[in-house]
Amino acid sequence: MAAMENHIEKILFTEKQISQRVSELASQITLNFSSSTNNGGGPLLSSSSSAPVVVGVATGAFLFLADLVRKINLPISVDFVRVESYGSGTVSNGKPKISCDLKIDVAGKHVILVEDVVDTGNTLACLFEHLKSKGASSISVCTLLDKPSRRKVNVELVGEGKFYCGFECPDYFVVGYGLDFSEVYRNLPYVGILKPEMYS
Ligand code: 5GP
Ligand code: MG
Ligand code: MG
Repeated sequence: MAAMENHIEKILFTEKQISQRVSELASQITLNFSSSTNNGGGPLLSSSSSAPVVVGVATGAFLFLADLVRKINLPISVDFVRVESYGSGTVSNGKPKISCDLKIDVAGKHVILVEDVVDTGNTLACLFEHLKSKGASSISVCTLLDKPSRRKVNVELVGEGKFYCGFECPDYFVVGYGLDFSEVYRNLPYVGILKPEMYS
């Protein structure tokens, strides 16, 4: 079998660029939650009650979440939720469903949803409704990639929630660093554009 890099047309975000950006995002998150929970008094939380619950959207966010949380200097909790909307193709069916729910009770908690990519916004809209109904006190989003040109649904952040974005992504179907095509390529250490012949 040919090496995976032969399946990639172009690398959009290198391993080094991603690592650098993940550090920046983690610092922003650490700073924002330190000051909001501590009145700007310092980086250490005295209790974990107001530290956020970081919720990864499986499976695409697994690598991003793993790298991100190791750089967040707060006593966070980590959980996953699974949302299905894609099937095996490259076009969303537009009706995401939660197929595996959180284990942690997020009532009264600050939630940071960690996504691989925000595309149409349908997945986020579905998750926001779900987390609001569970009583999350704020909902932030931390996405590796954002494709604003493809947005169909705009999601209003909840409470003091913020939108953290790694990179704006051009309108290509990308794989790697967690993102798949038919469950393959998630283990590439960078984000790249798949050669069209790989999915046509
Ligand atoms: P949305 O619901 O915002 O349209 O799409 C969200 C989901 O679609 C993402 O979490 C991701 O699983 C999938 N998706 C959107 N764009 C891409 C892409 O370029 N590559 C891959 N692999 N998945 C994508
Ligand atoms: Mg996703
Ligand atoms: Mg996928």
